[in-house]
Amino acid sequence: MKNGTKMRRFTVKDLDKRFPNDDACLEWIKNHRWPQGIECPVCNRVTKHHKVSNRTCYECDYCGHQVYPLAGTIFHKSATPLRTWFEVIHRMASTRCGISAKQIQREFGVTYKTAWRMFKQTRTLLAETSPIFAGEV
Ligand SMILES: [Zn+2]
Repeated sequence: MKNGTKMRRFTVKDLDKRFPNDDACLEWIKNHRWPQGIECPVCNRVTKHHKVSNRTCYECDYCGHQVYPLAGTIFHKSATPLRTWFEVIHRMASTRCGISAKQIQREFGVTYKTAWRMFKQTRTLLAETSPIFAGEV
């Protein structure tokens, strides 16, 4: 993050707009895992994939090979809808972000300078580990 730039809060309203349903969440996870597109192992190249309805999987437009974006993630085999997951993560992330340096200072009994540094590092870490809520909405 650049110095002096304030990160815009990712509100519950933003969450609703960006992730209106499970499909939108799945789409985000897919794009996050394969930002250059999905390389089909059968076609041996990046091909167009379409979402298979009612399943958390995408299918190659050409050969029908299927990929599961959730495999190997914390969402895999979870009975909880993706939308709920995203909401929970957002809630946790915004709580962690929401605490001020002043509060950290008070609650942890450290100097303001230390608290501010902790606050900034925590925010950076959050921006890195949950990019779901960083960047443009
Ligand atoms: Zn294919």
